[in-house]
Amino acid sequence: MDFIEETRGRHYTGSCHCGAVKIAMVGPLRPFVVCHCTDCLRTAGYTWAAAQLPHEQLEITQGNENVDWYASSNFAKRGFCKTCHAQMFFKDNDSDFASVSVGMFDNFEGMKTAGHIFRNSMPDCCHKIDDLSDMDVEFYATSDGGAQT
Ligand SMILES: [Zn+2]
Ligand SMILES: [Zn+2]
Repeated sequence: MDFIEETRGRHYTGSCHCGAVKIAMVGPLRPFVVCHCTDCLRTAGYTWAAAQLPHEQLEITQGNENVDWYASSNFAKRGFCKTCHAQMFFKDNDSDFASVSVGMFDNFEGMKTAGHIFRNSMPDCCHKIDDLSDMDVEFYATSDGGAQT
């Protein structure tokens, strides 16, 4: 997949939910891809969307010791925060690229989403989420863990 030219040389930061792990990235980045594979379903609870960049362009600026790497298959591992258990990273064992979850990003200049992969791995009842309409909700989570109306 091609890099997004608009992200070349740009700086991005991110963190997990609790803030123990912080990252810095330098573009170019590949666009977000929404993955529906069974490994993402089991580890993230639903779809998992991530951007990709060469590993050397990703720096864990805080909390490297707080990243727990889990071998989710015989070819890849996933990085979770030991404190809040957010799934942050995906790394193919034989690739020089790292995937970083959309949820980690603080800023999104030039970023875009390319599309879905492995959508047919999802149960039939929820594999066509594009067709759904937005719903009003009473509560939503905030980044400090509270809930607001
Ligand atoms: Zn955390
Ligand atoms: Zn997946």
